[in-house]
Amino acid sequence: MVAKVVFGRGSFNQLGEIITPMRKNERAPFIFLVDDVFESQITFTSKIPLLYSDQILFISANEEPKTSQVDSLVEKIILSSSILPSGIIGIGGGTVMDLAKAVSLMLTNSGSSEDYQGWDLIKNKGIYHVGIPTISGTGSEVSRTTVLTGPTKKLGINSDFTPFDQVILDPELTENVPKDQWFYTGMDCYIHCIESLNGNFINSFSKTYGETALKLCEEVFLSSPSPNISQDKLMMASWHGGMSIAYSQVGVAHALSYGLSFLLGVKHGIGNCIVFDHLEAFYPDGVKLFKKMKRKHNITLPKGLCANLTNQQFDIMIDVALSLEPLWENAIGKDWKSQITRSSLKDLYSKM
Ligand code: NAD
Ligand code: ZN
Repeated sequence: MVAKVVFGRGSFNQLGEIITPMRKNERAPFIFLVDDVFESQITFTSKIPLLYSDQILFISANEEPKTSQVDSLVEKIILSSSILPSGIIGIGGGTVMDLAKAVSLMLTNSGSSEDYQGWDLIKNKGIYHVGIPTISGTGSEVSRTTVLTGPTKKLGINSDFTPFDQVILDPELTENVPKDQWFYTGMDCYIHCIESLNGNFINSFSKTYGETALKLCEEVFLSSPSPNISQDKLMMASWHGGMSIAYSQVGVAHALSYGLSFLLGVKHGIGNCIVFDHLEAFYPDGVKLFKKMKRKHNITLPKGLCANLTNQQFDIMIDVALSLEPLWENAIGKDWKSQITRSSLKDLYSKM
């Protein structure tokens, strides 16, 4: 679990006060990984509390994090400082937060980040890392994974060392998220709840968080509260949704969405929406409500993504999806292999 968290509108202003005691010395910088959407927003970047040789590295979120990107960031950081940094601060959505977690881990674990894609492969604690979400939904701020695309798979570095040491939840930071992206990333949270609550790994711990997050999602996406309340609620939904899956698992939508993302580069939030729209057979009530929310917010999802794919390309997506065994076991049960066939997955992908 995340050791420390502050919540509140304007709490970003406490960042300097929070990280100062964690500075090892003047030569050990804090490295701020910041979504480049903020690069031109001087009023925001001027609040980042830089001292000594601290650095801001602006990161594009156009593509999701790759193992090669993590490795080159780690190399850049090691080359730019004579000692390990005091900490890594990730400011952005799931993309930047996951990069911050992965970089923190790879500064203290040798080799390439691709060697650690899987469950509990990390040997050493990472360096101090702080997560500050600027868009709500992924739950990356609270989860024990950092999802990376490597040369052969899209899979997280899941470990007890992955969660942030500190999180700052400031809903004000999400004010300018574009509407479509707000919906896609918000639906990531909604889908986390549906997959967790309807999975075989569900337990009272996850259920409590999942039900809370689901209720908050319904309030945000169906009742349309005022902007401030909506931002506050969605940030808490994201946190609770993340807590729910941290102690259970996601399911069919995530497995198939990872395949789409690996082959076609479809981003996580929109990819989950594209997939979930076709999963009535697995999550009938959840999909019904999803379609209602989609209509209410006039969201049109892309179609025909898989229209011109070759059999070999379908196979790549199916291989990635089927490799995520815990997700299928959670969704279907221990005998999932007898129920989920390659041709049934091809049929589903063909509809997208
Ligand atoms: P994202 O981080 O890619 O951001 C989406 C878009 O929103 C980007 O264009 C970004 O620049 C923009 N944006 C972010 N904050 C903004 C703001 N305040 N104002 C304006 N624009 C803003 O999207 P995401 O959906 O948050 O994250 C997706 C990533 O999260 C994927 O890589 C996925 O694999 C990962 N993920 C991780 C976990 C986990 O537990 N670690 C869980 C779910 C998803
Ligand atoms: Zn997700």
